[in-house]
Amino acid sequence: MIELSDRLNAMEESATIAMSRKSRELKLQGKDIISLSLGEPDFFTPEFIKDAAIQAMKDNYTMYTPVPGYEDLREAISKKFKRDNNLDYKADQIVVSTGAKQSIANVVLSIVNAGDEVIIPAPYWVSYVEIVKVAEGESVIVNAGIESDFKITAAQLEAAITPKTKMMIFSTPCNPTGSVYSKEELKGLAEVLAKHPQIVVISDEIYEHINFGTKHESLAQFPEVYEQVVTINGVSKAWAMTGWRLGYIGASKKIADACNKVQGQFTSATCSITQKAAIAAMEADPIVLKDMIDAFANRRTLVLDALNTIQGVKTNMPGGAFYVFPDVSYFYGKSYNGTVIKNGSDLCLYLLDEALVALVTGEAFGDDNCIRISYAASEETLTEAMKRIKTALEKLA
Ligand code: PMP
Ligand code: GLU
Repeated sequence: MIELSDRLNAMEESATIAMSRKSRELKLQGKDIISLSLGEPDFFTPEFIKDAAIQAMKDNYTMYTPVPGYEDLREAISKKFKRDNNLDYKADQIVVSTGAKQSIANVVLSIVNAGDEVIIPAPYWVSYVEIVKVAEGESVIVNAGIESDFKITAAQLEAAITPKTKMMIFSTPCNPTGSVYSKEELKGLAEVLAKHPQIVVISDEIYEHINFGTKHESLAQFPEVYEQVVTINGVSKAWAMTGWRLGYIGASKKIADACNKVQGQFTSATCSITQKAAIAAMEADPIVLKDMIDAFANRRTLVLDALNTIQGVKTNMPGGAFYVFPDVSYFYGKSYNGTVIKNGSDLCLYLLDEALVALVTGEAFGDDNCIRISYAASEETLTEAMKRIKTALEKLA
């Protein structure tokens, strides 16, 4: 009999991907499911990026590339970091991978030893904890509730640090809460981290451009922590390129070299054609994203307005990304037709059965009082989904 590894058995399936698989299956069975479960822009990749890919194929960019990515792509990313984030990363401090997900895995595998502690503020993106498990690290969860806009304070960070702390992982704008750390808040975290130079911080900024208020701020801008911070970004979200699979890091040369080594054994590099297309994205003025960002901002208002008409639902005001993470714990303990809702998973299953809307339980993101709604869907779809959610929630007593 084949036995799977303990490592695999300890790992949870990605809840975001599981829910989107489930809704795809139900749709195939003919059910009228609205899926707001996956964090994926519903826009298509801009034409100028597709054109660059077609040209790359015609020019025969079809072979293995350097492991960390083509030199011209890394030069373009270096300029992007300077232009958008005022960060100085030379091409040899940049590693391009098969999605930001792989970028994060490369860094964790390069830094974390068995038993090392990794501080992860909750709510967090689902994959952080599972990637840490693969590296046999111990996730130390620091909770930030809705009352603090789902952001941790410098004091909370300080209290969580022990001699075993090796890493911290967080996102801004945050998946699943949409919360955005201000420059002052990041400065506070940087001051604490600078006192512990052995801690590597993964600052996941993949939603950088999907930001509705203030300018995006990067943790690595503070010189006292520059060497410790790995800045993660990618093309999936802003450039609507989820299927192309390209993410990247900017880091100290030591960490970049380590990721290069890991990647050389795991994937060699990401797709050559994708890399050439990504140069077009890096060189484009982010102003071309304005229509998409405005569309997301309108959808955010639509979803929040609808949620705020439902008794018992609590919301924050997400400053970025394309998620709302309402606190729905008011409904726990209530029931419909004999089914008692005990937690976020029960509520998501109930909404899937009763409202035919697929969402993701907050438990997967480290806060079971909440559920995640991805509003990367048309206003028409969102209006219908919110109507169905309201009707179903109001049936619970
Ligand atoms: N980080 C966060 C916070 C995300 O939401 C995602 C979404 N998939 C990723 C990383 C990974 O993105 P990708 O692998 O598509 O570049
Ligand atoms: N990041 C997206 C999400 O949170 C895509 C799915 C995934 O990679 O987990 O839904």
